[in-house]
Amino acid sequence: MAVIDRVTVTVFTTVIRSVVDGHGHRHPGPPREVKEALLEVTDADGATGRCLGQPETLRESMIKAHVRPVLTGQEGLDRERLWHALARRQRGAHGHLTDRLLSTVDQALWDLAGRKLGLPVWRLLGGARSVIPAYASTMCGDDIPGGLASFSDYADFAKELVARGYRGIKLHTWMPPMPHGVDLDIKACAVVRDAVGPDVALMLDSNHWYSRTDALRLGRALDELGFAWYEEPMEEASVQSYRWLADQLATPILGPETSWGKHMARAEWVAAGACDILRVGVVGSGGLIPALKAVHTAESFGMGCEIHGNGSGALAVIGATLCGEWYERGLLHPHSDYDTPPPHLRSIVDPIDESGNVALPMRPGLGDDLDVDHIAAHTVATW
Ligand code: MG
Repeated sequence: MAVIDRVTVTVFTTVIRSVVDGHGHRHPGPPREVKEALLEVTDADGATGRCLGQPETLRESMIKAHVRPVLTGQEGLDRERLWHALARRQRGAHGHLTDRLLSTVDQALWDLAGRKLGLPVWRLLGGARSVIPAYASTMCGDDIPGGLASFSDYADFAKELVARGYRGIKLHTWMPPMPHGVDLDIKACAVVRDAVGPDVALMLDSNHWYSRTDALRLGRALDELGFAWYEEPMEEASVQSYRWLADQLATPILGPETSWGKHMARAEWVAAGACDILRVGVVGSGGLIPALKAVHTAESFGMGCEIHGNGSGALAVIGATLCGEWYERGLLHPHSDYDTPPPHLRSIVDPIDESGNVALPMRPGLGDDLDVDHIAAHTVATW
């Protein structure tokens, strides 16, 4: 037991090989330098918990006004109490104290606990399983030659992913600003099913602003093609639209993914009958603490809960619970190399084996293999 006596953010440069378009969709790109940030929480014993984040998420004003006042002088192992104390401050922070910041702080505290106790966080939280099948989550469609520019590109890439060991593939099809629509989605799903055969699990994450009738037409095609789930065809704020859709389809509806409202929004979706499989992310929904509450809600209602996104936080929840079948590995693209770590990591946290499985990390804490020498040598700001 030791109180927290230091909270620091280090902004550093690293290199990535992707670009994000004006609609927030990631595509492969040439190597480019970007800024990332590392949150560190250190206690009176000298133990440190760490979590990577974005500099704009970990803004100096928010660390000064909210994170330091909540954490400093408090017992570092009191994750639940500290999460609630920080979450309560969101009401008066006018949107500036985000769920992403809450998540980064929460993950750093779990990393601290795991390091102090010498346990991986997934085992500290429950220890349900040490291996999980991964599905390949593709990038969106594009106009890159040999990329994901045509139906045959999707089919060829799906066959390549199956050859690498994946037993599940989730398609992100064409979205704005690319030409897009239900007819293109249906054709892409059909050619991929044809390419991989009936035994590979296929999922679709389609355009997020379809009308009810377009979403239903696409869902009926997925019923014919035997898809494992159907994700975010419509604006998630309209819970009644999802109930309307779920009532008419055999394919399980998965959600909500981007909806605001942490575990409480997930409980509302379950109560409304708006999904067949629940969805929660660690980064977007406020951390491990709300994600676990959502998973346990799903389990209590006999539903699965699939964790959104990749990374050590997602793996911690997956390893701690049995309520979900997959780990989302991606985003993947014929021209991108997921398996080579960026320069600020010595290794990736989620290597895949030839059977398509990812082993949970055994390192104490969250399991990220940070290259602290790179970070120190490329630091551009601290607060
Ligand atoms: Mg999604």
